Amino acid sequence: MTDTLPTILLIEDEPQIRRFLRAALPGQGYQLQEATTGKDGLLQVTVHLPDLIILDLGLPDMDGLEVTKRLREWTQIPIIVLSARGREDDKIAALDAGADDYLTKPFGMGELLARLRVALRHANRVGGEADDAGFRVGDLYVDLARRQVWVGESEVHLTPHEYKLLITLIQHAGKVVTHRQLLREVWGPGYNEESHYLRVYMGQLRHKLEPDSTRPRYLLTEPGVGYRLAIE
Ligand code: CA
Repeated sequence: MTDTLPTILLIEDEPQIRRFLRAALPGQGYQLQEATTGKDGLLQVTVHLPDLIILDLGLPDMDGLEVTKRLREWTQIPIIVLSARGREDDKIAALDAGADDYLTKPFGMGELLARLRVALRHANRVGGEADDAGFRVGDLYVDLARRQVWVGESEVHLTPHEYKLLITLIQHAGKVVTHRQLLREVWGPGYNEESHYLRVYMGQLRHKLEPDSTRPRYLLTEPGVGYRLAIE
């Protein structure tokens, strides 16, 4: 029975964090495995093939960014990175290297469980977004086949860039998407630094889609990192 529970590998040297997850996760329907170094973590991934990896970026023997890069050479197992507050550059580098999401220490149980659910849901989706006819959150509905966007009963007209930006966030719904990822997916590979484009287009999207564009309900800012589309 327990064999069917999702397995999470925690790669973290801080005893408090390991204790916290050890106390919390088994009761939530997850099996927990632990590694305290990058080297041991990489080995355990190959041996146990966990369903998800929670990876501290500050490990004693290796940089968590390096661990992320090595994993992404051969596996797409979801990775949630843990980082200290104020280390935005570390998080961004890990996300751009292929990590799926992040949590900033200290984090609460509710936040952790929400991130786990989203990452596992994305990983289990077999056919990508094509099997989804539409995306809904609150009053916002996007008909992906017809490329129509609705807020309540009203259809909203988006420009091609606004639509592409929204679709990119929908493809990663619930997960953070870095500025760099958004720029590359919406404008193309040559655009890495033009964060002001994003601010302008995000402002327009919020103006069209949000009930109150000054207090976004759907299009959330992750300060210094990127944006996240709410899923509930
Ligand atoms: Ca650490």
